[in-house]
Amino acid sequence: GQATADAIVSMSNRPLAQVGKAQAAPEVIAFERYRAAGGYALAQAVARGERDAEGVITALEHAGLRGLGGAGFPAGRKWRIVRGFAARAAERRAAPSEATAPSGGSATREAVERGGALMAVNIDEGEPGTFKDRFYLERDPHRFLEGMLIAAHVVGCEAVYLYLRDEYPECRAILTQAIFDLQAAPELRGQLPEIELRRGAGAYICGEESAMIESIEGKRGEPRLRPPYIAEVGLFGRPTLEHNFETLYWVRDILEKGPEWFASQGRHGRQGLRSFSVSGRVKQPGVKLAPAGITLRELVDEYCGGMADGHELYAYLPGGASGGIFPASLANVPLDFDTLQLHGGFIGSAAVIVLSDQDKARDAALNMMRFFADESCGQCTPCRVGTVKSAQLMAAPVWDLETLNDLATVMVDASICGLGQAAPNPMRCVQRYFAHEVQERRP
Ligand code: SF4
Repeated sequence: GQATADAIVSMSNRPLAQVGKAQAAPEVIAFERYRAAGGYALAQAVARGERDAEGVITALEHAGLRGLGGAGFPAGRKWRIVRGFAARAAERRAAPSEATAPSGGSATREAVERGGALMAVNIDEGEPGTFKDRFYLERDPHRFLEGMLIAAHVVGCEAVYLYLRDEYPECRAILTQAIFDLQAAPELRGQLPEIELRRGAGAYICGEESAMIESIEGKRGEPRLRPPYIAEVGLFGRPTLEHNFETLYWVRDILEKGPEWFASQGRHGRQGLRSFSVSGRVKQPGVKLAPAGITLRELVDEYCGGMADGHELYAYLPGGASGGIFPASLANVPLDFDTLQLHGGFIGSAAVIVLSDQDKARDAALNMMRFFADESCGQCTPCRVGTVKSAQLMAAPVWDLETLNDLATVMVDASICGLGQAAPNPMRCVQRYFAHEVQERRP
């Protein structure tokens, strides 16, 4: 928790391992225990057609489940769209003139060459301050795998690629064991898609869905121009359902407890639950499962034990590196998709970093711009040059606002992907809410 906030504000770029505290490994719910508690019964019911695909999609739509990797696209609508493309691809394959025979290689490769829809799951979790996927994966991997199976059956995905952050070696061991146990279960044989676990190589940009797909295909992780969208032309040119780990993690609970259970959890008019990764100047940082729409003040007071001793709330980042920086005066804004855009930020993957009167917003903004400059894939000039140039200008005691704003306009308007488009957010928030930190001081 504190380690993350230090890294965001710090100019020293210390590795997190040097400032973090060692913690005991959490207990993992293994296959037998998960199964004994009714696990995989739902996935089996979907696979056997006892639970119809349309009903599952409708339940997700009523629950209001949204993509929890950052974009917030409604999950049910995404399943419906990809299912449509998958069905059309299946029809084309069934036509004699276009049928292709499987060739050699791995089973996953054969699924690819047969031309069916695929699924790609993003467990890259590279957004600074985000650690919710790791939290759930280290505790309950089968809940995620069951959601993944349900999605694959409903949408019609023949193979699933899991793209796991390589800085999570413990998670890799847990996931490898969980997949092995799943595939070894005799009662599930014949009901599983092919599953392939891929290791990321530490690039932030590979959390962007199309860059992740390029990486899985063995290419440089560079975002694609859209259209076509990956729902239609994705991994290996196939219709592709792409999801963040946590989105799939909630599928079983929503279907078992009912969409009303999930939808009724929100606060201030919002629907659902959000897993906030809270770090920074609070008494109890960590993953906090809280109602969507909760305010920062409520999150800190009700879930984090209040501010750390000797610290007063000064600012907060609602969505990791790209979600902007808000002042304490906006601590009563509902934290959710859409709302924060009115104030120049967004919630993204709900990585909330709390800063106090001992921090400076400009330091955090500079560190993030340097981060973006490091992580830009370099494919387009506004982002590649704009991030570097902006970071140089932001290191000055007084900011050259005209040049910074020119650069920001070009980055937002002409960058290919969200990295370049969102990179100016923290800088713009400093101008809007913390101008006293970057203006010339008058005697
Ligand atoms: Fe790469 Fe940046 Fe362009 Fe995205 S905006 S494609 S990260 S250079």
